[in-house]
Amino acid sequence: MAAIRAAQLGQKVAIIEKEFLGGVCLNFGCIPSKSLLKNADLAQTLTKKAKTFGISFDNLQLDYSAAVKRSRQVSKVETLSSAVNVTVEGPAGEELLSTDQVLLATSFIPNTDSLGLEHTGVIIDRRGFVEVDDRMATNVPGIWAIGDVTGKLMLAHAGMAMGTVCAEAIAGKSPEILNYQNMPKATYCHPQVASFGHTEEQAQNAGYDVVTGKFNFRPTEKLLD
Ligand SMILES: Cc1cc2nc3c(=O)[nH]c(=O)nc-3n(C[C@H](O)[C@H](O)[C@H](O)COP(=O)(O)OP(=O)(O)OC[C@H]3O[C@@H](n4cnc5c(N)ncnc54)[C@H](O)[C@@H]3O)c2cc1C
Repeated sequence: MAAIRAAQLGQKVAIIEKEFLGGVCLNFGCIPSKSLLKNADLAQTLTKKAKTFGISFDNLQLDYSAAVKRSRQVSKVETLSSAVNVTVEGPAGEELLSTDQVLLATSFIPNTDSLGLEHTGVIIDRRGFVEVDDRMATNVPGIWAIGDVTGKLMLAHAGMAMGTVCAEAIAGKSPEILNYQNMPKATYCHPQVASFGHTEEQAQNAGYDVVTGKFNFRPTEKLLD
């Protein structure tokens, strides 16, 4: 997005990418994860609702371990009929965890150690994220940062919006100031959840007179999922 907007504004753009063009979202994140979710969805339909859909089979076999193994600290996953055994590598060596369900939530760590930024004087916060202002400029003139590496809101559309702002700022325009609080967020659980703005608690803490509304899930077509 940044490259497109910069080119639209007459800038010459070069992209340097060490591995796969398209970054995490296209190659490992947003798109592949939705394919894994589809897998889980299918498995749920086949194991729990097959009869409802008029599906029958003799010997259904599911293998979740390939997906779960993507977590770097998980060295082995065995799906048994009554439990899932997960071997994890921690500071104290290997440990076997036996559980009913596995939820992967490995979080994000900024990859700023190896960029050589220490030689530039660019300010990195204590968690390793690059500090930028509203125009995506770092404290060093000519060095800009957008997306997850800034730790603002680690979602693809937020990164794209930041790219647009950055390209416009570089081109000498006065870009819009982004409001991360009001950017939409999707949580791909079952059922899926969409959110933006303050949570009820945050709104209360911010001093608003909060009124909450509830709406039945049943009348929405998402129920059919
Ligand atoms: C499993 C998963 C699911 C997700 N699902 C969603 C979703 O549904 N919706 C959503 O909005 N967001 C989702 N995200 C988040 C989304 O992927 C990120 O917010 C987005 O990819 C951030 O883009 P970015 O350009 O800032 O960083 P990245 O996509 O991480 O791109 C950074 C690029 O820089 C390259 N690079 C790193 N170091 C160097 C170097 N030294 N030299 C050259 N190149 C280098 C990397 O190879 C990489 O391609 C998901 C993320 C994950 C992990």
